[in-house]
Amino acid sequence: MTSLDKAKALGPIPAGFETLDGELAIGGKRASEWAQQAGKTPLFVYSKDRLDARVAELRAALPPRIGINYAVKANPYAPVIAHMEALVDGFDIASSGELTMTNAAGIDPARVSFAGPGKRDNELEAAISAGVTLNCESEGEAHRSLAIGEKMGKAPRMALRVNPDFELKGSGMKMGGGAKQFGVDADKVPDLAREVIGAGAEWRGLHIFTGSQALSAEAIIEAQGNVLNLAAKLSDEIGEKLPKLNMGGGFGIPYFPNDEALDLSAVGAALHEHMANLPAPLENTELCLELGRYLVGEAGVYLTRVIDRKVSHGTTYLVTDGGLHHQLAASGNFGTVVRRNYPVAIANSYDAPVDDVVNVVGCLCTPLDRLADKAGLPRADVGDLVAVFCAGAYGASASPSAFLGHGPAAEMLV
Ligand SMILES: *Cc1c(COP(=O)(O)O)cnc(C)c1O
Repeated sequence: MTSLDKAKALGPIPAGFETLDGELAIGGKRASEWAQQAGKTPLFVYSKDRLDARVAELRAALPPRIGINYAVKANPYAPVIAHMEALVDGFDIASSGELTMTNAAGIDPARVSFAGPGKRDNELEAAISAGVTLNCESEGEAHRSLAIGEKMGKAPRMALRVNPDFELKGSGMKMGGGAKQFGVDADKVPDLAREVIGAGAEWRGLHIFTGSQALSAEAIIEAQGNVLNLAAKLSDEIGEKLPKLNMGGGFGIPYFPNDEALDLSAVGAALHEHMANLPAPLENTELCLELGRYLVGEAGVYLTRVIDRKVSHGTTYLVTDGGLHHQLAASGNFGTVVRRNYPVAIANSYDAPVDDVVNVVGCLCTPLDRLADKAGLPRADVGDLVAVFCAGAYGASASPSAFLGHGPAAEMLV
């Protein structure tokens, strides 16, 4: 057995998971029961209770005036979208495929906004026809939207996505500041907005998204202050009140060792302060945040079964039936520079003492397919279940499930 001090740290398991008969429990049932119910492994299990609790925490911390939008791309599993329908105020989609999904969930298109570069004409047409708000990403896209609306005899509902001159500091993915494929450069926004309004579009205001996966409350507070100031300034320059401002999101979740959860109460307190001192042009503006992983990421667990246990040159491998084709991010191949361990556990010996150091790998023929490196875990054997946490966002739909032909994982909302 490898000495335990050789173990590499694992990411923090999200608070609130329980143990039942020594096993990890999700939604009141043991992990192995869910695997049995699904009839196969690997599977993603998403917890309704955890989705509800997360939104409730947000509602308690944020000023009531600020709406919460769900960014569907984080987890487009149909039952998850349907469950979010009653929880959040709006939905942000990034393709007409996602529009089909929100429609299928019975979500009123008036609650949906459509961002994302490279919208095709047929996507613009579908959105305009449904009455979805277009968050226009460029002048060209705005012009195409107006032309399509005119041809259809229907005024498009249009907002402009702004590429601001600042960014969300410390964010995992920078989506503002400098040259970007996203949004209209801030200095070009007033002219384009006036043109859009003059052409008879239904003016829906601005969308300012500054980044993603930030754990620093300070950085988020600073970005939100900048967003409100920029929106007020642009509103003045446009010469027209903003009916709506989508303030972006960027709230992160802890995935890796030493990551600390976002201080939501600090962000909420700063927003309360802002609401009390809103710049005049924003006094009647409808405000919202758009969140993806913060809403759903910690609600999901990926369960994969150990198929083989082998030792190579003194290193123990747990070879599972899962891998990067379902959980690309946990393998370290989805936007990370240095690979670090996600939170993982042996689901069916969840409270057993750590007495082994193993590499947990997937079943794909590539050395990239790692789920945990030198993980300190309870001894596991063939048939045991490995749990990978923080699997509720950018898992199933953000991984190359066709790669190597093993097929997709099962998904369930419980
Ligand atoms: C991806 C995306 C989101 C969601 O990001 P998270 O990090 O999951 O919160 C929100 N808004 C826009 C415009 C996005 O592109």
